[in-house]
Amino acid sequence: MGKILIFWLSVFSIILSAGLAHAEPRKQEVVKNITLLHAGTLLAVPGQKPLLEQTIVVEGNQIKGIHPGYITAASLMMPYARVIDLKDKFVMPGLMDMHVHLTKMMDTDIEADDMALEGVISAKKTLMAGFTTVRDIGAIGNTIFKLRDRVKQGQIDGPRIFAAGQIIRVGPQDTGLECNGPESCRRTSRELISNGADWIKIYASCSGSSLCSHQNGAPMFFEDEIEAVVAVAKKYGIKVAAHSHPRDSALFVLKYGVSSIEHGSFMNDKALKAMKKQGVYLVPTVSVHDLLENLKRDGKVKGPMLAHNDTFLKLHPGTIMNAYKRGVKIAAGSDAGIVPHGKNYRELERYVELGISTSDALMMATVNGAELLDKTQELGTVEAGKYADIIALSADPLQDIHNIEKVIFVMKNGRIYKKE
Ligand SMILES: [Zn+2]
Repeated sequence: MGKILIFWLSVFSIILSAGLAHAEPRKQEVVKNITLLHAGTLLAVPGQKPLLEQTIVVEGNQIKGIHPGYITAASLMMPYARVIDLKDKFVMPGLMDMHVHLTKMMDTDIEADDMALEGVISAKKTLMAGFTTVRDIGAIGNTIFKLRDRVKQGQIDGPRIFAAGQIIRVGPQDTGLECNGPESCRRTSRELISNGADWIKIYASCSGSSLCSHQNGAPMFFEDEIEAVVAVAKKYGIKVAAHSHPRDSALFVLKYGVSSIEHGSFMNDKALKAMKKQGVYLVPTVSVHDLLENLKRDGKVKGPMLAHNDTFLKLHPGTIMNAYKRGVKIAAGSDAGIVPHGKNYRELERYVELGISTSDALMMATVNGAELLDKTQELGTVEAGKYADIIALSADPLQDIHNIEKVIFVMKNGRIYKKE
C-alpha cells in the first residue's frame, strides 16, 4: 500500500513539476523574433492617405501593431528586438501580381527539364521587385505546385504563390487539359484540384497570339461545359479565372460564376455591367502592350497578325478605362512570363499612363489582389494581424509611379529578403 502511495505521489510530483516548468517562461520564449520598422512614410492601406513617422512591430511572420512616432526597442521593453531604419523611405504592403507564369520564359518554348529552374529564377526576380504574392495562372505540368510548396517551406526565395496549374481548354492541345463535354470537364477539373490547384483557369477564347481571338471571336465552351467546371470548382471552394479576348466570350462565361476575366480586351458595356454587378474582377495584363509595340517596332510581325495586334493595341486601353470609370474591380496582373519577370511594375506604370490615379494603381496591386484571392484577413495592407509582407521604396510612388521600381527593402512573412 505504502509503495503504491509513493508511486502515485512521485507521478503527481512529475506532473506538477512539468506543469510548473511549462508555466514558467523559458528564455527562448521571452526572446521572440521581433522587428521594429521605423517608416518615414507609411502607406499602410493603399487607397488611404499615407502616415508619417510610424513604427511597425513585426513578431515572427505577423504584423503585431503600428505605433505613431519612432518607438525604441527599450521603450517597448524589448531590448532584443532588431530595428530597421526606413526613416527616409516609402513603406507599403508587398505588391501582388494576379497574372504571372513563373515557370514560363518569355519568347521561348521551354523544355520541361528547364521549367523548374526557370521557375526558381523568376520567383526570385519577382520577389526582389517587391512582389510578395502572385497568382500563377497557367503552367505546363505540375512543376508550379512543387515550386509553390518549396517557396512556402522557405527553401526557395520567391513570392507567395497561388497556382492554377494547367489551363482548361476545349480540345487536346500541346499544353493544358481537355474539357470536351460535361463529363470530361468535370473529370479534368477534379484532376487539376487533386493535383494541387488553388485556382482554375479556363480558356474562354483563343489565345491573344492567335487570329481567332479577334473582337467577334466565338466563345469556346458550351454552356454545360462551363457549368461543369464551375460546379466542381465551387464544390471544392476554388475560384475560376477566365481568359477572354473577344466581345462575347466574357459575356458568355460571366453567366456561370467566374471570379475574374483575364485580359478582357474587347469587352463591351454589357459585359462590364455584368462584371460590376457580380463583383467579378478584371485583370488587364496591359504590360503585354510593351511586347506588341516592340514586335511592331522591330518588324517581327507582319500581315494579318500585325493588323490583329494593332486592333488590340487600339481597343484594349479603351476597355480598361471604360471598366475603371464604371467602377469594375481591377486587380493588377502583368502576364509576366509573356513579358519579363521582375518587371511586374510595368503593369502599374501602364495603368497610370492610361489615366488611372497612382493611388488606385497601388490599390490594384495590393488591396484588390488580396480581395480577389479571398485573403483580405492576411494580405494586402500593413495592419495588425496580417502577414508581415512589407516593402520599402527610396522614393514616393504616389508622386511618380515610376518610383515603384525603386524597391530597396523586401520583407515577406516576417523574413527580410532584400535590404539595400
Ligand atoms: Zn497569361
